[in-house]
Amino acid sequence: MKKTAVLFIQVFLISQLSANAKDQRPNVILFLVDDMGLMDTSVPMLSDQEGKPKRYPLNDWYRTPNMERLASQGIRFSQFYAHSVCSPTRASLMTGQNSARHRVTQFISPEKKNAGPKGWRWEGLTKKDVTLPSLLRKQGYQTIFAGKAHFAPTGFTGENPRNLGFDINIAGCSFGQPGSYYGEDGYGNLNPKRRKRAVPGLEKYHKTSVFLSEAITLEAISAIDKSLENEKPFFLYMSHYAVHSPFNSDPRFADNYKQSTKPKNAQAYATLIEGIDKSLGDLMDHVTSKGEAENTLILFVGDNGSDAPLGPVHGYSSSFPLRGKKATCYEGGMRVPFIAGWAKTSNKNMFPIASNSLHTDQIGTIMDIYSTILEISGAKNPANHVVDGVSLLKQFSGESNPDRSDHFMCHFPHSHRSSYFTTFRKGNWKLIYRYKGKNRYELYNLSEDPFETRNLAKSEPGKLKELTKRMANRLEKEGALYPSDGDNILKPAIPDSN
Ligand code: CA
Repeated sequence: MKKTAVLFIQVFLISQLSANAKDQRPNVILFLVDDMGLMDTSVPMLSDQEGKPKRYPLNDWYRTPNMERLASQGIRFSQFYAHSVCSPTRASLMTGQNSARHRVTQFISPEKKNAGPKGWRWEGLTKKDVTLPSLLRKQGYQTIFAGKAHFAPTGFTGENPRNLGFDINIAGCSFGQPGSYYGEDGYGNLNPKRRKRAVPGLEKYHKTSVFLSEAITLEAISAIDKSLENEKPFFLYMSHYAVHSPFNSDPRFADNYKQSTKPKNAQAYATLIEGIDKSLGDLMDHVTSKGEAENTLILFVGDNGSDAPLGPVHGYSSSFPLRGKKATCYEGGMRVPFIAGWAKTSNKNMFPIASNSLHTDQIGTIMDIYSTILEISGAKNPANHVVDGVSLLKQFSGESNPDRSDHFMCHFPHSHRSSYFTTFRKGNWKLIYRYKGKNRYELYNLSEDPFETRNLAKSEPGKLKELTKRMANRLEKEGALYPSDGDNILKPAIPDSN
């Protein structure tokens, strides 16, 4: 055979191989919304006793048609847990580890060390950490970061997502809230009062009317196109600054709420929600226009409970009917929306996802996203890197997941709205343990009392003891750091069951 013919065959085979390999690695959009709680959507995420979706007043207040669209072709979880504040969740997404293990247990302040136990990782993630994007990059993915990073303080390597495994960084930096959502303000750069949190890197939209959520989406779409041009699968970590404060009203949606008697900032918050919903729809439309919809998996998730400016004075609180809100130890602090779906459902999808389905049987956690994405990409977790999550693919198909543990632990050895606590859910039981103060134990049966109204700590001493022991063991296993009182390290006190 002539050399040119051999060369042609080799080139042909290599290109076929790379095409096949690409087919087996779906594109992934991890769509993370800051401070979006379980109830901040028109999609009902909670169920009635029969497991059917049940609407509550907030589902009729918010407008999220594109979340409805994704939910209709995918599966959503009624019991999906994140940590109670930003940075612990964000470190868990990147590493697959629980916060007690990775030790980013409090939100990271860009300028200073937030108070906490000696050894807590206020410096955030570093180049030495095993991260999801770095593993995906080795697997041939183009790794795109867009939006709020908040991985490390100013001046530390992790402040730039490109030091943590991302090929591209769009507008990500050390801080967790934008100076402004308005292009007219240059997202804080052009407004002296807001320059402290000026969003970097979107200069071409300065002095325009392009809202921040829109600008980030447009740039993400352009990065997707570059990946496709290079015939690489992409991992887009679409991390919106919205819906975190400041609650700037998005003029595109303001008319939808102006008849309401709710306060202006609650109306503005609803426009921020609608803005991220439009972003979701735009991304779904874009991958469809590129012929990539059947090969693009979307995972939609919030990073902690809602911080919506709705108090009891307005009829209900931000996470109603769940108790609590962002930064508290109750379900409203750490239950978040989660939807998994293909941008288009068809028999060409790499694996099936149950459509229009509300998954109520098993929990999911923020740590599981790491393991799930590794499985579908074919990337391997390094042997020496312990993970606390599991792949959710079985649950996506509507089956029960035998690898799924029935516990979730949120460890918070710091001061905030709720202070110095660990929550430990095991099956239907939930323990809240406080390291300081008189009210040490709260115990709830979430199947009978999902909104945490009846503390059973005194009436169920056996269950209380069992859960406290399990929690204490789990904390030790994950290498937790504990709060202290002077020189005394405060470890959990096991109650007497008599
Ligand atoms: Ca947050």
